[in-house]
Amino acid sequence: MRLANLLSWYFRRSSRRYVRFNDDLGAVPLPGPSRDHQYLLYLHIPFCAVLCPFCSFHRVEFREDKATRYFRALREEIAMVGQAGFRFSELYVGGGTPTVMPGELKETINLVRAQHPVTCISVETNPDDLENERVLALRDCGVNRLSVGVQSFDDRLLKEMQRYDKYGSSEQIRRRLKAAQGHFDTLNVDMIFNFPHQTDTSLATDLNILTNELGADQVSFYPLMSADATKKAMNKEIGVVTYDRERHYYEMIAAHMLAAGYTRSSTWCFSRGTSMVDEYIAEREEYVGLGSGAFSYLDGALYASTFSINHYFKLVESGLTGLVRRSGLSSREQMRYYLLMHLFGGTLDLAAAEERFDNQFCRTLWIELSALQSIRAARKTGHTLCLTERGFYLWVIMMREFFSGVNAFREQMRHNISDELDVAAAKAGHSGTAC
Ligand code: SF4
Repeated sequence: MRLANLLSWYFRRSSRRYVRFNDDLGAVPLPGPSRDHQYLLYLHIPFCAVLCPFCSFHRVEFREDKATRYFRALREEIAMVGQAGFRFSELYVGGGTPTVMPGELKETINLVRAQHPVTCISVETNPDDLENERVLALRDCGVNRLSVGVQSFDDRLLKEMQRYDKYGSSEQIRRRLKAAQGHFDTLNVDMIFNFPHQTDTSLATDLNILTNELGADQVSFYPLMSADATKKAMNKEIGVVTYDRERHYYEMIAAHMLAAGYTRSSTWCFSRGTSMVDEYIAEREEYVGLGSGAFSYLDGALYASTFSINHYFKLVESGLTGLVRRSGLSSREQMRYYLLMHLFGGTLDLAAAEERFDNQFCRTLWIELSALQSIRAARKTGHTLCLTERGFYLWVIMMREFFSGVNAFREQMRHNISDELDVAAAKAGHSGTAC
């Protein structure tokens, strides 16, 4: 695997480049939409009842007054991008915990549906929000994919993650998942692998619960990612993260899920039948992200919205979107980003890539494309480049490193607003966030 390690290092370096944003220069204008193009809209809801120690997302402790004002600002921002000419055919609501205020979420989804021809709506949630009334309300406002953050069915690991008291025991979570099944086209279960105290037996039990007991529509198995800001809390609560067993666990997961009749929707997402895809970045080249801490990718540049919720209020209430940072990619970097994201989905249509990049794609990335094939990480069949089993694990590393780069940027942005986060935690009666 020496060449593979080299390639991994190379992509890691490239990934960090994508999130080298400019300094905060105040509001950054959103580029105009392409004519007749329909985009994916991502909405970020950063509030959570409990802040898990392993989590590197942009999240803050829930406060009803702040969250109510936030949803109102988000609807104003949605209206702004609609007036700017953007049309959305798909909606993804992530967090944080988007279902933290069901009434506000419903009003927000209804606004998007009233103004855009949205046909696919995905919402993330936690196991304690799976009570019948809330599930039916989500279904009735058009949600067709619900993604539940479970992480593990091992009570010991749930306790280490500080999720047991808030989100329930393995048995309670399984009961809630069973009750929620059948209400959506896709019920996705988010899991994590490579916990320091995870064992083969614990992972095998999780896999059997998912496929044999629950028959989940879709399962996304994320590798545990460590970030500087969460490292101390993670070491204390869940143990020291190493990558020694990561490959072994990934191979266990893939072998089990494929044998159980699931197919890969992305490197770490396994679906039965025609489930909706978990990672929109693998399917959609461009997307618009709204809300504090959201990212957008438009016209060859990544954009980040302000992580300060107070700043977000100020921007939106003065008629601006929350975008404050921009990272413009060179045409070569755009091609590498395209390669990374498409192979995250398992295949890359080289003919489409050539058309997209004016017949320069294979010529520009010939080293990367040749290296992937020579280490047998990818195989070319006609115009399609497909990851091999070896390549899938390599892509776990690539995407882990890509998201680590994103997490490092999130840390930096959250560090800039540590006063705001501390005040929020103090008001909520906590001594500080877990991170
Ligand atoms: S993992 Fe925990 S802290 Fe992170 S978004 Fe989910 S509930 Fe919130």
